[in-house]
Amino acid sequence: MIGFTGATLERVDHERDDPAAFARALTHPGARLLVLHGLEPPIADDRLALVPMDPKRGDALLLGNLGGAPLFAIGDGVATAPAMRSPTLMTALAAMPAEGAALYGIARSLIDWHVRHGFCANCGQATSVSRAGWARACGNCTAQHFPRTDPVVIMAVEQGDRVLLGRQPSWPPGRYSTLAGFVEVGESIEEAVRREVLEEAGVRVGAVRYVASQPWPFPSQLMIGCVAIAEDDQLRIDTAELEDAFWATRDEVRAALAGESGRFVAPPAYAIAHSLLVAWAE
Ligand SMILES: [Zn+2]
Repeated sequence: MIGFTGATLERVDHERDDPAAFARALTHPGARLLVLHGLEPPIADDRLALVPMDPKRGDALLLGNLGGAPLFAIGDGVATAPAMRSPTLMTALAAMPAEGAALYGIARSLIDWHVRHGFCANCGQATSVSRAGWARACGNCTAQHFPRTDPVVIMAVEQGDRVLLGRQPSWPPGRYSTLAGFVEVGESIEEAVRREVLEEAGVRVGAVRYVASQPWPFPSQLMIGCVAIAEDDQLRIDTAELEDAFWATRDEVRAALAGESGRFVAPPAYAIAHSLLVAWAE
């Protein structure tokens, strides 16, 4: 299972514009609430801790139906400057069942978006929550604003029996991963892959194949995992983007994925880079 996927949440889009359906969900006897504290998840016994819904929390966002009962989310004490992900948080998410991390990711992205989008991008006036938490509406110019998802390409670039890995200075010592970058306006996934690899590593890429994707809730990316074929192996590293890059052999990748000490430390299991490297190594 790729990290932050696997939630069995039913997203009940048809209920979002229906105030009567929202009121019924609030008072549903099985309704539950996910409370984030400053964007941190509530955890009990290594699981995401949901509490019974308080019908007075009509300001909560309706995530959808989980196991046939409504699930709401709310952020208590969420700062306008969102906390960055901490090693403690990522360890806790990795330890919980996949669905818990996935639900947390949905709630975190949505709550964080509301906190940072209180004003209309069209006219500058204050906006209010609409569509049961899945939009914001401007009462002044009637514009509707929807939670954003930013596409990012992440690619295992292969050349013969080797794969291109790079590292950023902020990463833990020894950590290397596949290259990644935001898709720009007016660009296809394939074009974004070719541009990013050329910009960051100076390598020209030919064929690009989509493999899998992952929502990444820090704050709201969609990671689009690809395998790409390099046309040469000459690296010209952009040191403003990468601290280092190298071509790793299949044996080196397998050793890192197995947790053995070797040439590099693999990305963590909840990251799609890990899944991409597993697929490539196999
Ligand atoms: Zn407006």
